[in-house]
Amino acid sequence: MTETKLRREIVATALKMNALGINRGKSGNVSARVAGGFLVTPTGLAYESTRPEDIVAMTLAGESSASRLPSSEWRFHRDIYAARQEACAIVHAHSPFATTLACLGRDIPPFHYMVAIAGGRDIRCAPYATFGTQELSDHALRALDGRKACLLANHGMIAVEGSLSAALALAVEVEALAEQYWRALQIGTPNLLSDAEMAVVLAKFASYGEPARRAKE
Ligand SMILES: [Zn+2]
Repeated sequence: MTETKLRREIVATALKMNALGINRGKSGNVSARVAGGFLVTPTGLAYESTRPEDIVAMTLAGESSASRLPSSEWRFHRDIYAARQEACAIVHAHSPFATTLACLGRDIPPFHYMVAIAGGRDIRCAPYATFGTQELSDHALRALDGRKACLLANHGMIAVEGSLSAALALAVEVEALAEQYWRALQIGTPNLLSDAEMAVVLAKFASYGEPARRAKE
């Protein structure tokens, strides 16, 4: 994919994120890996007014010569691309239900087998740190260890995937799981699946090769 096409796809993904109701206004951000670095949505610009040329190119050293400033959250995007070779796209959203759980500092436990879509037996909530800081990025990377998604305490969520469409689909799934878990908590204590059962589910997802697409079958 050419960089111009990727810039257009980043804007489209950010617009879809808001249209799907998993993010509002200018919060959240979207990025995609390119050779030697990544492209990320700019700070302080409504997605409706963001043009492909407004998307900011950054190196893995965190440098940019673009006229616009990158999202204030560029650090965790940079650190994820630097640490995770398989990561090619990141969606960060302040989605309502994931953020609700994150405000309680709750992980999403294995209350439903689809929790495995994020790569493990649970979806962790990273401890709170101020937005845009290295500390937040360090917490996020730890919560993402062995996972493709995490919650950020008192903040939102991150979904990491191999493409923009897959990252958006994962963010939507994590938000759906957060809503289901929140609803179950309203009327009782959800039954959790055992580690052995989640290992079976994870193995099935891995053997499908394309868990995000095939798991819905
Ligand atoms: Zn944020």
